[in-house]
Amino acid sequence: MTTTADNRTTGQQAATDKKWVYLFSEGNATMRDLLGGKGAGNSEMTRAGLPVPPGFTITTEACNAYLELGQTFPDGLNEQVQAALRQVEQQTGKKFGDPSNPLLVSVRSGAKFSMPGMMDTVLNLGLNEQVVQGLGKMSDERFAYDAYRRFIQLFGKIVLGVSGETFEHELDRVKKATGASTDADLSVEALRQVVAGYKEIVRRETGAAFPDEPLAQLDAAIGAVFKSWNGRRAIDYRNNQKIAHNLGTAVNVQTMVFGNMGNDSATGVAFTRDPSTGRHELYGEYLVNAQGEDVVAGIRTPQPIARMKDEMPKAYEEFAAIATRLEGHYKDAQDLEFTIERGKLYMLQTRSAKRTAAAAVKIAVDMVGEGIIDHRTAVSRVDPTQINQLLLPHFDQQAKDAATKEGRLLAKGLNASPGAASGKAIFTADKAQELGQAGEAVILVRPETSPDDVHGMIEAKGILTARGGATSHAAVVARGLGKPCVAGTESIRIDAEAGAMYAGTTVIREGDAISIDGATGEVFQGAIPTTETKFSEEKDLVTLLSWADEARRLQVWANADYPRDAQRAREFGAQGIGLCRTEHMFFEEERLPVVQRMILAEDDAERQKALDELLPMQRGDFYGILKAMEGLPVVIRLIDPPLHEFLPSLEDLLVETTELRVRGNDAAQLAKQEKMLQAVRAMHEQNPMLGLRGIRLGLTFPAIIEMQVRAITGAACQLKKEGVVVHPEIMVPLVGHVNEMSISRVRIEQAIAETQQAEGVTLDHVKIGTMIELPRAALTADKIAAQAEFFSFGTNDLTQTTYGYSRDDAEGKFLLRYVEQKVLPENPFQSLDREGVGQLMRMAVEKGRATRPDIELGICGEHGGDPSSVEFCHQIGLDYVSCSPFRVPVARLAAAQAAIAGGERDR
Ligand code: PEP
Ligand code: MG
Repeated sequence: MTTTADNRTTGQQAATDKKWVYLFSEGNATMRDLLGGKGAGNSEMTRAGLPVPPGFTITTEACNAYLELGQTFPDGLNEQVQAALRQVEQQTGKKFGDPSNPLLVSVRSGAKFSMPGMMDTVLNLGLNEQVVQGLGKMSDERFAYDAYRRFIQLFGKIVLGVSGETFEHELDRVKKATGASTDADLSVEALRQVVAGYKEIVRRETGAAFPDEPLAQLDAAIGAVFKSWNGRRAIDYRNNQKIAHNLGTAVNVQTMVFGNMGNDSATGVAFTRDPSTGRHELYGEYLVNAQGEDVVAGIRTPQPIARMKDEMPKAYEEFAAIATRLEGHYKDAQDLEFTIERGKLYMLQTRSAKRTAAAAVKIAVDMVGEGIIDHRTAVSRVDPTQINQLLLPHFDQQAKDAATKEGRLLAKGLNASPGAASGKAIFTADKAQELGQAGEAVILVRPETSPDDVHGMIEAKGILTARGGATSHAAVVARGLGKPCVAGTESIRIDAEAGAMYAGTTVIREGDAISIDGATGEVFQGAIPTTETKFSEEKDLVTLLSWADEARRLQVWANADYPRDAQRAREFGAQGIGLCRTEHMFFEEERLPVVQRMILAEDDAERQKALDELLPMQRGDFYGILKAMEGLPVVIRLIDPPLHEFLPSLEDLLVETTELRVRGNDAAQLAKQEKMLQAVRAMHEQNPMLGLRGIRLGLTFPAIIEMQVRAITGAACQLKKEGVVVHPEIMVPLVGHVNEMSISRVRIEQAIAETQQAEGVTLDHVKIGTMIELPRAALTADKIAAQAEFFSFGTNDLTQTTYGYSRDDAEGKFLLRYVEQKVLPENPFQSLDREGVGQLMRMAVEKGRATRPDIELGICGEHGGDPSSVEFCHQIGLDYVSCSPFRVPVARLAAAQAAIAGGERDR
């Protein structure tokens, strides 16, 4: 019998031949799966002859093998790393661990999908007491010791797990003792003290000396980067960004180049186009005499890249030329990292630039104009969910002006990620997460954010930091999450431990309201109301969506109950109304008493009286919505929800009635109350979602739906008389048996005919159809189609009834936990469950078309605006998706991308 151990041995032996390590000169841009984004980018740049410091990439497969083997290197990895290292030594003419000419390396993570700052990096690796002496002789001693102390600090934190703060305290202690006010003021002697202090900390905290052997340092650092794939912040980030957990990270081992070798050295990060606005200009920052980590961590606030033109003209010209070349090569905006070592430029990274929605749209449209990409590529370049960001709320200008006048403008920082938000100032990521999850609006306020804060950023409405540039973690992560962020607000002081923020004489304490404007960088005291962006003014978006319209087959309709919403949907490009929920109109304040009288009526005559009062109101509603959608179809659904929704809650009524009974001084009111209580008790259902609702209600009280059909037909007739072309369609909800459809159809047709006669108008044919929102309806769709001219998938109820999860309760009770614990891959109420609910839909489409080939097919559940669900609707051949007005642009783009990705589906 084979044991597990035997299996492992066999696996290891098989792995011996496997190639785990690729020199940069061996890889290319297509190898992202294996080499990660950074490795593939470095390889591609190396092949293109760009100045990349020599190095190699350890594959994502090696990471997965390491994690599977219980944190052990797979066979062959050690040997391959050493062989690659020898190659790098040859290329650089330096030697790893050799004091007379030392090679130092960086060890960086690099996954297939960019996860900025979420995993670990170790710099300056290869230093020990002997090597640092040699390095000192070759460069200068201060530089060498500074590199050494940085290395011990980073390695100590990342690989040995010593808290970063302990090192910071020691650094501060030596600074104080030697009278240095900044790191740069530390003398060689002081740095030696820091190094000794750091080593003592390592010995004390880990019980062992700091490792001196460079190869042992390298192995440990590689292992630590592998492990950081499963670190908390990496997992949080992947969950949020829906990145698979089994991809693993590659590790890049690369020759160190130094941006901190004096004033002819620098380090920087730049985008080929502005990642906030999309403007076609080099955008980024650099720091003279600094290492890359100083820029990314936001420890020092860097200079805008434009200044480099004057300060280092030669390096700038070379860099700008490379940036243009890389953008042309990848046909997309790039995010570049570079270092200048004593005047010589090195490229450290190129990757597709993360960008705001506004920038994504502008870059895509501009690149078409510049002849770099075509319409379809442009359409594929923008993530549909990002479109929402563009239409993000911003502050009401008047309210903002007023706040400024009142002296509530506290500070101005960098406009790092657009959008505007108000909320409670919260100073730790944990608290922000806790309150955010409890539904509170929170602004996470931090001196600077580190990647450890990502869980708090995810739950916050916005992020505010005192330090850091537009490429700091706070900015990069916020843009990815689509949250407003103001960074580098240097005029405020943040004391996270004390839970306070100081801006001039104003003190903001934890829980106080603040507002941030990520588009302008302004920070205000107190809350400010927000307003929405005007879609028609977003010219680039309008252009991009017109290209999407060329590409898509699916139509996009909207769910709207009021003329105002219908109008907005139309502006967003809706081609019809797929769902008008008529009962929403019943909830309006002046109507509710009439609706209640209709429900509580003791006989038909009394009920009819209430209905007669409602009819003109409903007719007015339909008039408005049909007029707003002139020339386009409007699907009006007959009353759906259980009647008890229009009555007070049983609990409230019990309390009020009991009080009246006890007081005993208002007999008339008590009698009314008792009658209401009786009715509510009679209608009380354990699970009203499965009870008297939808067409069951319509057949129980036929007068209600007759009134509604008369109101719809009457409004349409009136509009026709006024010369307005209208296309109402009447939809029957919650049909489970064909007879429900056939009986109601007769009544609907009769009411249409009678109203037309009374109005003296003949309308174009009014389609009568049904929702498919019960499994039985899908299973018997062939029969139902004989009575229905259209189907509209009500996937909210179809998900509820297929899964047996209450759509009102499941999310709060267990569903979100289910998703977190991976019991379910996704929340099926947000993203269509293709396997289950989708199968029923597919079946209903086939059966429906078999009976009635020209049947009109759409979806009006919430899924109609979810990009993945839209793709599925395209694939099964629906005619349209219908979603809330704000998601219409999202759906237009998603429908186009589905068509481009999958080609047209033959019907
Ligand atoms: C549905 O069930 O998907 C639907 C659109 O109807 P409602 O949400 O009104 O029940
Ligand atoms: Mg429904």
